Amino acid sequence: MRGPIVEFSPGNFPSGVTSNGAIAYIDRDGVLNIGSSSYINRPEELRILDNAPKVIGDLKRLGFHICIVTNQSPIMRGLWDENQLYLIHQKLRELFLQQDQDAHFDMIITCPHRHRDNCSCRKPNPGMLQLADNMLRSENPITTNSKQEIIEIGSEFKTINWWKEKIQPKHELDLLVGDRNSDMGAGWAVGARLFKVPESIGISFVSSRVIDEKNKGDDFSPIR
Ligand SMILES: [Mg+2]
Ligand SMILES: [Zn+2]
Repeated sequence: MRGPIVEFSPGNFPSGVTSNGAIAYIDRDGVLNIGSSSYINRPEELRILDNAPKVIGDLKRLGFHICIVTNQSPIMRGLWDENQLYLIHQKLRELFLQQDQDAHFDMIITCPHRHRDNCSCRKPNPGMLQLADNMLRSENPITTNSKQEIIEIGSEFKTINWWKEKIQPKHELDLLVGDRNSDMGAGWAVGARLFKVPESIGISFVSSRVIDEKNKGDDFSPIR
């Protein structure tokens, strides 16, 4: 299967707020909702972590684009398909907006692949983040008109050289929140400020740090 799978719904900033130009890249399981070693397979299995909607709302009120980036290998394992993924994500959006009316996701991007598929979107590869940057901020963006689309990412989204220095981000406030080193690696590869959270607590663990423009995030090296 090609990929990643893109659900594109940009905008919906709170009234009086405009984009600050930055993207908050947010992992899903263990950051927004409680994860599971056997995956989240149905909308009914979603359990939102405490205060996660408020943190997303706070970022949106500051003008961040919110882009969820999630590895979901059960798709390529054949457990379920992208239609099921869409239902899970519609429920996730609904639960977030119920708790905070500003907690809107501009994009949800999913890598459906397994490690052995050797794609450029599975984190720690930065393909999903680079695609979000392209679609939200480039002068010549890849476009989509459907609620969910499988987009092929090509040679412009090459795998990164993990041994070089961390690059400068496209926007100095770009940030990534995740619960695993694979998340940190993907964020590192696009130069984002990095915030690692315990999977049992999720994004509220860094609720004050992510809205502090002076906070440089966590130290991280992908080769340690
Ligand atoms: Mg996670
Ligand atoms: Zn992938």
